[in-house]
Amino acid sequence: MYEKLVLYIDGNFIETEGRKTEPVFNPASGEIIGQLPHATREDLDRALAAAQRAFETWKKTSPVERSTILRRVAELARERAEAIGRNITLDQGKPLAESVGEVNVCAEHAEWHAEECRRIYGRVIPPRRPDVRQFVLREPVGVCAAFTPWNFPFNQAIRKMVAALGSGCTLILKGPETAPSAVVALARLFHDAGLPAGCLNIVWGVPHEISEYLIKSPIVRKVSFTGSIAVGKQLASMAGAHMKRGTWELGGHSPVLVFDDANVDQAATMLAKLKIRNAGQVCVSPSRFYVQSKIYDRFAERFTKTIGSISVGDGLEKATQMGPLAHARRVDVMEAFMEDARAHGGEVVIGGTRLKSSGFFFPPTVVTGLPDNAKLMTDEPFGPIAPLVPFTDPEDAIRRANSLPYGLSSYVFTESLKTATYAANALEAGMVNINHFGSALSETPFGGVKDSGIGSEGGTETFDGYLVTKFVTHV
Ligand code: NAD
Repeated sequence: MYEKLVLYIDGNFIETEGRKTEPVFNPASGEIIGQLPHATREDLDRALAAAQRAFETWKKTSPVERSTILRRVAELARERAEAIGRNITLDQGKPLAESVGEVNVCAEHAEWHAEECRRIYGRVIPPRRPDVRQFVLREPVGVCAAFTPWNFPFNQAIRKMVAALGSGCTLILKGPETAPSAVVALARLFHDAGLPAGCLNIVWGVPHEISEYLIKSPIVRKVSFTGSIAVGKQLASMAGAHMKRGTWELGGHSPVLVFDDANVDQAATMLAKLKIRNAGQVCVSPSRFYVQSKIYDRFAERFTKTIGSISVGDGLEKATQMGPLAHARRVDVMEAFMEDARAHGGEVVIGGTRLKSSGFFFPPTVVTGLPDNAKLMTDEPFGPIAPLVPFTDPEDAIRRANSLPYGLSSYVFTESLKTATYAANALEAGMVNINHFGSALSETPFGGVKDSGIGSEGGTETFDGYLVTKFVTHV
């Protein structure tokens, strides 16, 4: 049984009840598995009113009380991980182990925020006169509107929920219409954990209609979006026009620099597995591979061998290591990338054409021989395609890595501390992973620079976007 899809407004789960609906597909088979109700204007108004009313009480709750609810969410998430994970595989496509893993890892986000929200401190500033007392308070900004994507439907949504609620804000969230079950499951988790009505509201609909309505509402004080750069810029402009704060977690095109002195076999094997995770639909997926010339052939061979051994199939099958792409249009996008790669003289070493199936499958693909202006080298593929190119001069590799407007994640493989330090300092990225993948833990900040976004989720930075600073001085 797939999740019963509902809206969640002011503590009530609301079924279709005559509303417009949209079909949800299983990307492994192309079959319809559910119908998602769209929020009406009245639903959005009720969600706004509920979030505004709930904020007046929630902002005054003790951090200990908020912490208790977030901890309970973590416990319930672990208890329900198998069932929630299965539904994520059904509507998003990733292998079951990855879906269940996503839920379990995210339970930690709830725990981290439960701990960290008890440490939202202000400060005392030494006065210029002995009779003055002056201090800085950090207060929740107010009602937040959040928009989350389909690639990690549980992860992206819970990160925004726990940061907003942990800081004392209330929230209206629109999740991904193509993979909605995880967000509905989250509403049930918070509801069952005892979150007061109105603190969290879940709505669905036509994305740009909902975001425009919510962002323009005077009730909303902060916007948080994870998704593409193009949409992020539109929403950020709208938020700016209405003087709303924003957290923007946008796309990336992560460069990978593999130097001559790297542990080549280890790097190639690890990177191939990382590349096909979630079928490459990961904003921090390694996606442009610059490999130093002495080890290029060996790296390419080992990388291709590993990626070629990956079994592709329905995420519910035990043997599957990579599932389908999340929706049909992603397969079209992969084909467009490949057409451009061929036109630019790229050699397709493995993969390269859609798999004949009723589902939305594209195989792990390796392309070599591309010039820097090929689309695969300039645009985020967000899929299982890896372009490999050689470099000789480290400075040139850094220049090419930094040459795009993206600045999310980056990867460096070297056994030299000097090279590692040089690259870590020179790369224009919000995250630098050296000889391993270590991003996205609850205690570490996750976010980008340049077009990849503004603000961080996770780490001690996590509440910064949800708090305003108030200065108080008195004699
Ligand atoms: P998209 O930008 O159309 O959609 C991404 C998400 O944003 C979806 O969940 C969608 O419902 C939502 N969205 C779209 N327009 C919106 C609007 N006006 N207001 C509010 N929400 C809106 O892209 P897509 O074709 O679904 O996905 C492909 C691209 O999205 C990729 O190229 C990738 O860059 C980006 N993406 C990034 C992340 C990330 O984690 N940064 C996650 C998913 C997708």
